[in-house]
Amino acid sequence: THFGFSEVGLDEKQGLVDDVFHKVARRYDIMNDLMSGGMHRLWKDVFAAKVRPSRRGPFRHLDVAGGTGDIAFRIAKAAGPEAEIVVLDINGDMLDVGRDRAQERGLSDKLEFVQANAESLPFPDAHFDAYTIAFGIRNVPRIEVALAEAHRVLKPGGRFLCLEFSQVAIPGLDKIYEAYSFNVIPAIGKLVAGDGEPYRYLVESIQRFPRADEFERMIRRAGFRRTGFERLTGGVVAIHSGWKL
Ligand code: SAM
Repeated sequence: THFGFSEVGLDEKQGLVDDVFHKVARRYDIMNDLMSGGMHRLWKDVFAAKVRPSRRGPFRHLDVAGGTGDIAFRIAKAAGPEAEIVVLDINGDMLDVGRDRAQERGLSDKLEFVQANAESLPFPDAHFDAYTIAFGIRNVPRIEVALAEAHRVLKPGGRFLCLEFSQVAIPGLDKIYEAYSFNVIPAIGKLVAGDGEPYRYLVESIQRFPRADEFERMIRRAGFRRTGFERLTGGVVAIHSGWKL
């Protein structure tokens, strides 16, 4: 492509992604509001409501690429006092912001923050009841490896849920969306974070991400069963799910 990011190797790819989130950690939340027109809040509400943590008894949840805690906070609010929720991210700056926000919300006792890579999770097999990843899997260089790790750390009967950008399936809207992505998103990035280039990379990674049906097949190949997906907002985002049986 004309941005030339497609040729980068896997380690470089992770490096580019890390640069973006180091730069924006403190402004990440306002950035999301600006870029999605507030829609990300709604998508995250719908997504997190699919995790039904037990109100009584222990419940172990892992939110991967959890960033500043948006998904984990929603799940923590719905969970009982015995819930343990781990927010995992490769980027310590994002986790720092998450820790501060958890404190402000009085949720610190339910949440643990772990800096690690989605491709090699520092947990034993069959440890968690549910796994979520929101706007994260697209950034992981080896998606199949991350999916295999998700499957490994889940208990039998455990749930996998992924929220990610997808392909707009409505003619007309797709063109508007493309124009918005390639022009408005980098412009907002430049305005708020001082640099638009990393946002071009993120927009490009959305376009390169597998189609919803293809991504569902990848989830099946990782061993998940009763898989499925649901499109939101005309396919701007999709929620994929599966069970470890
Ligand atoms: N889930 C949060 C949300 O929805 O607001 C954060 C999403 S943010 C767009 C993507 C996050 O993925 C960043 O915090 C980034 O550091 C993290 N990330 C990128 N590559 C990762 C990897 N290989 N393992 C774990 N986290 C990663």
